Amino acid sequence: MRLEIMHPADQLVAFMTRIYANRLTTASGGNLSILDSNGHIWITPTALDKGILTRGDMVQITDQGPVNTRVAPSSELPFHQAIYKSRNNIRAILHAHSPALVSFALMRELPDVRLMPVTRIVCGPIALAPYARMGSEELGDILAAEFKKGVNAVLMENHGVVVAAENMQKAYSIFETLELAARIELHARRLGNPRSLTEEEIDLARTREHTRMTELTPRPRSPEELDLRRELARMMQRAVDQKLFAANTGTVSARLSDGSFLISPYGRDRLDVGAEDFVLVRRGLKEAGKTPSRAVFIHEMIYHRNPTVQSIINAQPPYLMAFTLTDLEIDVRSMPEPYILLHNLPRASYGFNYTQPQRTASLFGPQTPAILLENDGVIVTGETIAKAYDRLEVVEFMSRSLLELPSPGRAVRLSDDQLADLDTHFPG
Ligand SMILES: [Zn+2]
Repeated sequence: MRLEIMHPADQLVAFMTRIYANRLTTASGGNLSILDSNGHIWITPTALDKGILTRGDMVQITDQGPVNTRVAPSSELPFHQAIYKSRNNIRAILHAHSPALVSFALMRELPDVRLMPVTRIVCGPIALAPYARMGSEELGDILAAEFKKGVNAVLMENHGVVVAAENMQKAYSIFETLELAARIELHARRLGNPRSLTEEEIDLARTREHTRMTELTPRPRSPEELDLRRELARMMQRAVDQKLFAANTGTVSARLSDGSFLISPYGRDRLDVGAEDFVLVRRGLKEAGKTPSRAVFIHEMIYHRNPTVQSIINAQPPYLMAFTLTDLEIDVRSMPEPYILLHNLPRASYGFNYTQPQRTASLFGPQTPAILLENDGVIVTGETIAKAYDRLEVVEFMSRSLLELPSPGRAVRLSDDQLADLDTHFPG
């Protein structure tokens, strides 16, 4: 999505549709606005079904008031206006009653943004604001005072969240990442005490090495490469649809027969990544004009050490993530399918993949196709893209089943005899 060529009304429709489709707001709740280059606010209408909005429903507000009088602007217009006045780098505001952040709003508590590096890096500082009635001037004053301090998001007690940023893509990105972090923390708190990272630990994930790679001399693309690009783009869309990837999480790569590989780009909304955006990497050099994912070096090392691996995925799906934040194991020996596909699922301590990439790569093998990373997700490998994807989906489904048990210890493991029987019937 190229925001710079999109009319504010079209941006509002696109993002509200996405928020509703992701079940992050109800048909009547939530509102979005954009401040245009003339200093006019474009805002979603009040009381219209968020599932079927069109560009003509968006309301432009000039100094004289609303231009489109067919529909009334959101009843929260006063707080949008107050927030724009509080800081001059704010050009987009998103407000929603998303379920996990509302859980925290009900507890009058902020989610812990230091549980996962992505949350801290994407969301930045956030604040909790005291309760005030919706639509009131008081609410506007409270929110404006918080945003003036430089925060990116404010959780409103017993209400919902407001995010402000320099454009709607950034606001959505912060919102979705924070909601996911809240969801994961709620899951993890059912399992035990989630472990918080220090700022020094989070800094390990801020590596910039991948931005400094030397560029390859361009060559015509082979049919094999063109096919693989298409297959990777399709897998990426599917992973987003299935909630295995999110706007800011999820990396996939696949190897070509000449030893080079294609990897997803750095810093892009996963929903917008197409076949053309994947970055070709050959012997430590990258395709000109593109930036590969931060995971490029670890993928290269895994391919180098494991000749049968053809595809690698890094992901932070919400159920699995809850286990990586606590000491509770995802025991793949509890079910035949995960056992056959994964054999075992060892765990690397937080940051091991950044500080010891060679040793991390050496953990993989035929009996260890996936590794859990504490507070940072999972790396899954496969003999094909489909196989890596299948393993990821299976482990996330299993995590969900384990997490939704009445208590975490209730799962019964398969016996050694039952596992040995599986080994006999499904070797390899
Ligand atoms: Zn509201």
